[in-house]
Amino acid sequence: DAEASGKVCTRFDLEKETELRFEVEAGDGSEQVELELITGLAEVFGSELNRNKKYTFGPGSKIAVFTWQGCTVNLYGKPEVAYVSKDTPMLLYLNTHAALEQMRKQAERDNERGPRVMVVGPTDVGKSTVCRLLLSYAVRVGRRPTLVELDVGQSGVSVPGTVSALCIERPADVEEGFSVQAPLVYHFGSTTPGTNIKLYNKLTSCLAEVFSQRCEVNRKASVGGCIINTCGWVKGSGYQALVHCASTFQVDVVLVLDHERLYNELKRDLPHFVRVVLLPKSGGVVERSKECRRETRDEKIREYFYGFRGLSFFPFSFEVRFSDVRIYKIGAPSIPDSCLPLGMSQDDTQLKLVPVTPGRDLTYHVLSVSSVDDGDEDARKSIVESPVCGFIVVTHVDTQTQVMKVLSPAPRPLPRHTLLIMDIRFMDMK
Ligand code: ATP
Repeated sequence: DAEASGKVCTRFDLEKETELRFEVEAGDGSEQVELELITGLAEVFGSELNRNKKYTFGPGSKIAVFTWQGCTVNLYGKPEVAYVSKDTPMLLYLNTHAALEQMRKQAERDNERGPRVMVVGPTDVGKSTVCRLLLSYAVRVGRRPTLVELDVGQSGVSVPGTVSALCIERPADVEEGFSVQAPLVYHFGSTTPGTNIKLYNKLTSCLAEVFSQRCEVNRKASVGGCIINTCGWVKGSGYQALVHCASTFQVDVVLVLDHERLYNELKRDLPHFVRVVLLPKSGGVVERSKECRRETRDEKIREYFYGFRGLSFFPFSFEVRFSDVRIYKIGAPSIPDSCLPLGMSQDDTQLKLVPVTPGRDLTYHVLSVSSVDDGDEDARKSIVESPVCGFIVVTHVDTQTQVMKVLSPAPRPLPRHTLLIMDIRFMDMK
């Protein structure tokens, strides 16, 4: 039927412990490549393929089909590149999983908690992929690990500009990744931690606390442990943020991908009981341009409103009166220490809620809907550290009538009226 649909079919015979890497051209959305396992066993980033099922990958996909035992696969369509590699770090990654699994077994036996793992490294070394792999392997042996997503630029869980946690209950779907149901999401507001490092560290601590509380009441979560995906910023304050994360989560294992200096620094700066491990990156990881990263972010926001593949959402568009909502930005612009009011520190300004007067410049901004309403002073204080319940985008602002039009996943009214503004903008081209 591949010929009937006019698609070229290419067959690949893979020897054991090799992988087929292919990329689908990024573009206007028409490019697609289908993958079918014909004989043997194979997996995509830790998720097993079913035989004789066609998996579809859209524009911009970069995929590796790995086999432990050997297999034959067909590709239908025209990938931008497709080649077989014998040189992969998969065995090292599998050993890492085996070591973590030993730690979980021991935790189970000794009534302790399972491994808390932080994955670090510069951009484009495959951090997210290693996280996905380790989580899928863990869940395949019956564990319930938690994914902690601290990459505010390329979140695998929610829209960009957020940090989050997600309980993993089944392996990632080969085409769509992990099923994202009921994640815990916090507003950060920008795509790099550097815009407000105090806030970033604060939110890391919030996630650590919530995770620890969950571990206290849920034995499976505690034994499963967590895998923390981090940002690719590994110098200066970015490095400090990694050290902070390791301490607040009390991590047991740090996996450093392809960065010897970072490995040595962390070995020096973290307590001796933390196991710091240097792992090579896969030669298959593809470097992504700034443009490509921007597109991925845009796509993530589009998915939030419109759904993905088989699952379409139909967002709503309605008007919101300025007087019905309160919009805040977190963090005042930093001012020299000498100009701060007496008794106030830079910390206070970076975590401060600054009211935003709605104007035309709000157009296209993504706003987080806080789960807290700012009824009184106490409530207002907790907004920064509280999760969000969703996101809207401002599509039009009318200052005359004091009304803005928003794109929202749910019909009116908004569930809460405290909104937090992001630096991130989204133009709805649909
Ligand atoms: P960032 O710092 O930007 O978040 P990262 O270090 O987390 O990047 P990944 O997102 O894991 O990197 O990987 C980058 C891209 O490379 C992804 O599109 C992923 O699908 C692809 N990729 C990862 N491993 C392989 C492989 N072995 N073969 C082919 N493609 C791969």
